[in-house]
Amino acid sequence: MTSTSERPLILVSNDDGIEAAGILSLAAALDPIGDVIVAAPLQEMSAVGHAITMREPVRARPWPFRGPSGQITAHAISGTPADCVKLALNKLVPRQPDIVVSGINHGPNTAVNVIYSGTVSAATEAAILGIPAIAFSYCRWGGGDFEASGRIARQIVQHVLANTMPPGILLNVNIPDVPFDDLEGIMITRQAQARWEEEFAERVDPFDRPYYWLSGTFVNLDEGTNTDLWAVDNNWVSVTPIQHDLTAYRAMEVLQDWDWSESSEK
Ligand code: MN
Repeated sequence: MTSTSERPLILVSNDDGIEAAGILSLAAALDPIGDVIVAAPLQEMSAVGHAITMREPVRARPWPFRGPSGQITAHAISGTPADCVKLALNKLVPRQPDIVVSGINHGPNTAVNVIYSGTVSAATEAAILGIPAIAFSYCRWGGGDFEASGRIARQIVQHVLANTMPPGILLNVNIPDVPFDDLEGIMITRQAQARWEEEFAERVDPFDRPYYWLSGTFVNLDEGTNTDLWAVDNNWVSVTPIQHDLTAYRAMEVLQDWDWSESSEK
């Protein structure tokens, strides 16, 4: 923890790339409350999940990143969101950040989308190391006005800095696409049970080889009123505590009761 006289060090990353409007809004919203360092992919890296780069070098270069009150220290990195946070924490920050934030993603990261999300993975990388971490997503594809989501992000970061995050836990925040005054408030949620009904368009390339292109329809299978999808559909800011420990603890007992001996029936 920092002493109260010291400004918190805030590392900012994303998966939409260092030129995205969302990361500028996040860095600008946090600039007044801490020392912000940006480490973000040079190119868009949405839906790369927790991929890391191991078979080629990762390069970082200073990036002219301007917030409303002046220059913000920034590094553009030739890697994935997880690469960015790993490299920043090892090489680019003067001390361990007090918090790592990712986003603001262009589009929701609700329900099963959490596992595909590069935005969430950047934050997860910090949580693995015990650093408080938050992934922020704005529930609108493409452009839009990040003013409300920036204000919400600052508010949530201040709450996290003032409290103690349970070990290994990070927050996945989804912000509805409504003006600030229309937000109902903050709701603690769980991931909705939902899935993609996948479709692959099949076409033929100029060399007569078939290729496939993934698309699909997102289907909410969950009628709960405490889910991330319900919250954002009803103008609440959804805050879901998540973890990288994927162990299904309740299933351990079930599996322990199985007979694991070599079958005698053969
Ligand atoms: Mn993205």
